[in-house]
Amino acid sequence: MDVLIKNGIVVDGSGNQPFIADVAIERDIICGIGHFEKSEARRVIDAAGKMVTPGFIDGHTHAELTLLKNRQCPNEVYQGISTIVTGQCGLGFAPIKNDQFEDSIKINSGIFGDCRHYLKHWNSFQEFLNQLDGAAINAAANVSHNAIRQMALGFENKPLKGEALQIAKEALDQAMKEGALGMSVGLSYYPGGYSDTNELIELCKIVKENDGLFCTHLRLNNNQIPLSPVEEMVQVVKKTGVRLNMLHYRTGGYEDISTLFQPFKELEERGADIHYEYYPYLVGAGLVLALVPDWAQEGGYSIIMERLQSAELRDKLLKDMKERHQYFFAKGQTAMINITKDMYAKEIGKSISEIAEEHGESFSEAVIRLLIENELQVGFIGIENQSEELKSKLYEDQYQLFMDPRYTMGSDTIPEGVICHPRGFGSFPRTICQMRERSVAPEYIIQKLTSVPAQLYHLKDRGLIDVGKKADVCILDFDKVRDTATFLDTRRQPEGIESLLVNGLPVMLNGSLTGILSGRALKKE
Ligand SMILES: [Zn+2]
Repeated sequence: MDVLIKNGIVVDGSGNQPFIADVAIERDIICGIGHFEKSEARRVIDAAGKMVTPGFIDGHTHAELTLLKNRQCPNEVYQGISTIVTGQCGLGFAPIKNDQFEDSIKINSGIFGDCRHYLKHWNSFQEFLNQLDGAAINAAANVSHNAIRQMALGFENKPLKGEALQIAKEALDQAMKEGALGMSVGLSYYPGGYSDTNELIELCKIVKENDGLFCTHLRLNNNQIPLSPVEEMVQVVKKTGVRLNMLHYRTGGYEDISTLFQPFKELEERGADIHYEYYPYLVGAGLVLALVPDWAQEGGYSIIMERLQSAELRDKLLKDMKERHQYFFAKGQTAMINITKDMYAKEIGKSISEIAEEHGESFSEAVIRLLIENELQVGFIGIENQSEELKSKLYEDQYQLFMDPRYTMGSDTIPEGVICHPRGFGSFPRTICQMRERSVAPEYIIQKLTSVPAQLYHLKDRGLIDVGKKADVCILDFDKVRDTATFLDTRRQPEGIESLLVNGLPVMLNGSLTGILSGRALKKE
């Protein structure tokens, strides 16, 4: 055998009770669990007193381009994550046409940075997936609604119909056959937000035919369509029977938790396959461009920049932006600025309100100026300024969500920029720490971070320590696991996660990256 992990406390990801055993690995496969002699293995890892678990699976990231830039993927590896799913929230770059690539990168640069200098463009979803191969971790991908739409209709402000819809359906079908896990939508971003419910239904028929997963970042509640954003999803599932995953779907702390599930109750009773997801922080992060109204984003990068600078449109823009802000930030909530340009900018880490005050501007005026000056390369990160009472209610709600079998935890990692949301470095250790402190059984915690997302995303060979499964294995000191990344110091390695094997090879040993790149692009089987 190639590797023997000796004497660890095996928590196998199935929900079974922990047991002490050796785990034997031959090439990239777990070939035995039991007792083996050290002399039988070429490499022995002593895991006495440590927990041996499957590598963690993060179903929600925006890390595809960062992975292409730094194949060692430190933020994931440090957390014990062996597999990520990318292309969530409708954001993504495959399949789009060559001449649309630059525009797409620039529009999304507030999250992904301007990565044109290190990216080799791809011409199909398959080519994109192939590029994800050979990082430290495995990566699978959804096809993103924005990319599909952009290739079919560019940045036009209208729903897909007729020929454009047909082109989109064919491109989606092709991407699914080339290995996409499903399709994601991000309906508060554009061009995805220009869709109507019928378009989503038509596209989800293709997702359903290919047995994929439909992942949803909801529309804003701004009367853009006749239904409420959640009702729209109910309609899509009703009409298509597609498997649904509601991304970052949780309470705001004021309502009862049951209100989340009420709209889906009837569907669930009729056997619909509905899943939910949350991340373990109280505020989010995203594109500052998303604060700009739909009409101002039509047409792509150059025309957006023109509108932002137009004296004629100024009043309308400011009025509509003010209205839009209330959908993004709950009462009293604000956000700080992350500039994703490769340079120092004095606004980084300051709140939008602070920046506005310094310049004698309104909130919206500051947003517009920052977008112009930084060529849209501006992201925001929420600030956790809730009252202590509200915070503890939100954490209590998160605990309830974690204990719900329909829920997974997905980090929603956005790893670009000088600062980034700490969820990119802390989500998995933080969840372990939070749930351990609430005395949740280790086998349940590990199951939720491994085999549950593996089943949800149909990653068949992953998420379990079992003979015949792929050897993605994490070794950790359970009682010491703790996240250390904060909103002020985001890129910090967590504690207690010691070693990680991906496809049988160690990408981290005793807390240090080995430089081995044994991850693969995973395709839907
Ligand atoms: Zn997301």
